[in-house]
Amino acid sequence: MNPEVRSAFAAYLEQRRRLGEPDVVLHGLDRRQALANVAQVPRRIVSADSPAPAGSAADLAQVVGDLDHGQLRDAALACTRCRLSDGRQHVVFADGNPEGRVMVVGEAPGAREDATGVPFVGQAGRLLDLMLAAVGLSRGESVYICNVLKCRPPGNRDPLPDEIGSCAPLLKRQIEVVAPEVLVGVGSFAARWLVGENRPLGKLRGEVHSYQGVPLVVTYHPAALLRNPGLSRLAWADLQLLCRVIDGANDAA
Ligand code: SF4
Repeated sequence: MNPEVRSAFAAYLEQRRRLGEPDVVLHGLDRRQALANVAQVPRRIVSADSPAPAGSAADLAQVVGDLDHGQLRDAALACTRCRLSDGRQHVVFADGNPEGRVMVVGEAPGAREDATGVPFVGQAGRLLDLMLAAVGLSRGESVYICNVLKCRPPGNRDPLPDEIGSCAPLLKRQIEVVAPEVLVGVGSFAARWLVGENRPLGKLRGEVHSYQGVPLVVTYHPAALLRNPGLSRLAWADLQLLCRVIDGANDAA
């Protein structure tokens, strides 16, 4: 088994152990047989009405609480903590620089993200890249990008509260390990989760919030800007606010 597969497999097995899930017996199996064995482990049968697994957020927080970025990614790739694991093609963990100064948090993967495993691709992704470039940022160098949910809600429906609750420990740990100087929440779900308030996005934007001491700016999701170009003026004002926050971080450094 190559080292990368071995590492991902070890993270998967460790996660199962910590979550108290049934053993996967590998003794005496070759790689093909072992992977077939894992594939046969019964998955939870859940529907949109299924309750979240009991204690899932607390369990997951314990599992990921001391992981580094690579281990956290492996844990996310193996995660089956909510119903969204059943229909996904890919877990969409993150893109960009894990040491970036700015961390952008969106809502959830769409169809293209699910197909590619990369957040913010397609038209909305290109618009996000243009918005970042307008303020001198790029996902290849200075920005790290992820979503609140790592798996696609079917039909691009809104995330459900229990799904956000199940996935939140991954994002919390992601923010801890990336340790950005500035956070940007795009779209209402990400903005509300990061700010910790239920106000509409239009009421949250236009001011600098704080997430655990990290300056936080919220703005519209690029997909919303594509649907409603009239919001572009407000999004541009948000980007200018982001620039001022980054300048403030520069001055403090
Ligand atoms: S959405 Fe999050 S909690 Fe649900 S299966 Fe995917 S990674 Fe796990």
